Amino acid sequence: MSEDSPPKKEVAAVKGTHDILPGEVEKWQALERLARETFELYGYRELRAPVFEATELFEKGTGQTSDVVTKEMYTFTDKGGRSLTLRPEYTPSVARAIIEHRLDLQARPMRFYYMGPMFRYDRPQKGRYRQFHQIDVEVFGEQDPACDAELIGMADHLLRRLGVTDKEILVNSVGCRACRPAYSQALREEAGKRTAELCPDCRRKAETNPLRIFDCKVEACQSAARSFPEIQGFLCAECRDHFTEVLSLLGLYGIPIRVDPKLVRGLDYYTKTTFEFVSSGLGAQSALLGGGRYDDMMKDFGGPDICGNGFAIGMERLLSVVSLPLPERRLLYVAYLGGAAKRTAVELARFFREEGVECLVEFKDRGMKAHFGRANKLEASWVLVVGEDEIRKGRFGLKEMATGRQVEGTREELLGSLRG
Ligand code: AMP
Repeated sequence: MSEDSPPKKEVAAVKGTHDILPGEVEKWQALERLARETFELYGYRELRAPVFEATELFEKGTGQTSDVVTKEMYTFTDKGGRSLTLRPEYTPSVARAIIEHRLDLQARPMRFYYMGPMFRYDRPQKGRYRQFHQIDVEVFGEQDPACDAELIGMADHLLRRLGVTDKEILVNSVGCRACRPAYSQALREEAGKRTAELCPDCRRKAETNPLRIFDCKVEACQSAARSFPEIQGFLCAECRDHFTEVLSLLGLYGIPIRVDPKLVRGLDYYTKTTFEFVSSGLGAQSALLGGGRYDDMMKDFGGPDICGNGFAIGMERLLSVVSLPLPERRLLYVAYLGGAAKRTAVELARFFREEGVECLVEFKDRGMKAHFGRANKLEASWVLVVGEDEIRKGRFGLKEMATGRQVEGTREELLGSLRG
């Protein structure tokens, strides 16, 4: 370490994780509130699952050949010798919960959403973290292409409410178990002819899951992949009709989209529709959200034969492109003078909070000047002065900080000024 380099911090969050502090957390709360409100308009309900699950769940669900499973899982053995994994994504947990609680037998729509942290051991960089947060949306049991279109429409609705204008919606179909093998084979053959151009990782993918080559960020691989065959020519009649209908229904929502035949998504389970919302404001990690259909996942888990559909939004990335108006805070600072006044200050704070006024009492012996200095720093809207005189009269002084206006009254009378 050179003499100029900053000293290594002894206390620091783990690489790839971050704190969300007051001042920033309000944006998160506003996003969470808007997402909740929007999804509930479409009949979705929240489903909260644990942060860790049996490792096998993700191996089966997310897929043995996806990067998420092969390279990025936070897997550990617990004291009982079980292999557990911090969830890298949410869909397998929802599928597990549906099977475990037989939610498919209940007369409720199987439309769920959730917001929370996910964990991937990826190389940290801008827009890519090891603990990041997703808003996840899942629908199970809706075969109709109208559901795919509605999901895209709902994601777009949320982004419009957030004022995100810089976005492009990419849509594709990745076929199904009937038609994809022929496409994979065609890709494998093409990749076989071009191995010299591919990175070692993609040479391996050419064998295990050639569609994944489209996800590679290495320029040479991307350039080779540009001339690979496109999936549209390989889709079976069912997948083709489904995709045509999704595109036609998207017209109903008036949402401009671009069909991107190379959009395969990073997880193994997708069938038919895949989509991504990208934003140029994000730089290299341009995907704001991604999703699609997974018709075989539930069956593969040993559950009922129910199709699935959904998307996940990266909250860090979304928040980096929105400018949400923060709610205006109006804080009442209670300044008490002396030990006896403290008790009255506590009572008054209790009264005002019960009436819905945000109120702060700091339990420090301060003089009047120090109280006002502190209230200023805290950007309090008002200061309530509680001294012995005021207590005797049962009337208190209230100062509005922005205008300097002062009023005096009983606590009930002051409520009017505080609410006004
Ligand atoms: P995925 O589950 O990989 O389809 O990702 C869905 C969305 O989550 C992406 O579009 C990103 O916005 C976000 N995302 C995925 N991985 C990360 C990460 N490591 N750090 C931050 N955001 C991520």
